[in-house]
Amino acid sequence: MTDLAGKHALVTGGGSGIGASIAKTLARAGAQVMIAGRRKEALEQTAACAANMSAIVADVTDQDSIAKLYRYAETVHGAFDIVVANAGSAESAPAEQITPARWSKTLDVNLTGAFFSVKPALAGMRARGWGRIIFIASTAGLKGYAYVAAYVAAKHGVVGLARALAVETAKDGITVNAVCPGYTETPLLEQAVRRIALKTGRSEAEARHAVMASNPQGRIIAPQEIANVVLWLCAAESAAITGQAISVSGGETW
Ligand code: NAP
Repeated sequence: MTDLAGKHALVTGGGSGIGASIAKTLARAGAQVMIAGRRKEALEQTAACAANMSAIVADVTDQDSIAKLYRYAETVHGAFDIVVANAGSAESAPAEQITPARWSKTLDVNLTGAFFSVKPALAGMRARGWGRIIFIASTAGLKGYAYVAAYVAAKHGVVGLARALAVETAKDGITVNAVCPGYTETPLLEQAVRRIALKTGRSEAEARHAVMASNPQGRIIAPQEIANVVLWLCAAESAAITGQAISVSGGETW
């Protein structure tokens, strides 16, 4: 069992879905966990699950908001040893209908927000000679999907960001990796299923079936399966795993 006692972890987007599962898993392993997102109520509900978890409202697209989060967190529990940049969102549209505003919004949340979330942690991790940075990217960071060009571009960017930071921090005791989930059972997936049904005229059950069929195992991934990989990456024994994009998708991508 990975023991994270004494480690302080940040999980962005920790109020729901994959982020909530990661936060609970790191807390069970003994880490002091801080979750961040925009919806106070969702954050507070998740944080109530563990005595060693706290919540703060923050928007990853806003550097001032992130700076405030770091100031608060460091005052209360010290610097972050682990940062999981999980916050993200996806919208779909044919490429020729993506407006500049929607393009920018998608890149802001999924790519720039991921960078803003981890950047303030780097200097402290370097000084202490230990750190774990984990980006929750997507299989959309490894292959193309139709009607989500901005999301696919952003997630490919996240994989590139992880690889670049891994090289930059390789001698400092820090590992940087991207975890790439396939379709995973969360509110974001429910939205995607509803959208597919609406746009294709299929029922939601048929849309869900199509999503499952894209996974060679014929199923939807559970958030806990993503959290298990994150926990493994946090272990001291995973020190040699850096710069990797790990597909958790039942074999959809590699
Ligand atoms: P989710 O439940 O909708 O979680 C997304 C989280 O991101 C929410 O908690 C949301 O919280 C937070 N968030 C969004 N915009 C934010 C912002 N500007 N600032 C701070 N937090 C923000 O969906 P999920 O499926 O768990 O998604 C988690 C990650 O997994 C995302 O990066 C997503 O791209 C990735 N992923 C999901 C799947 C899937 O099939 N579910 C597959 C591959 C990758 P607030 O709304 O409170 O801000």
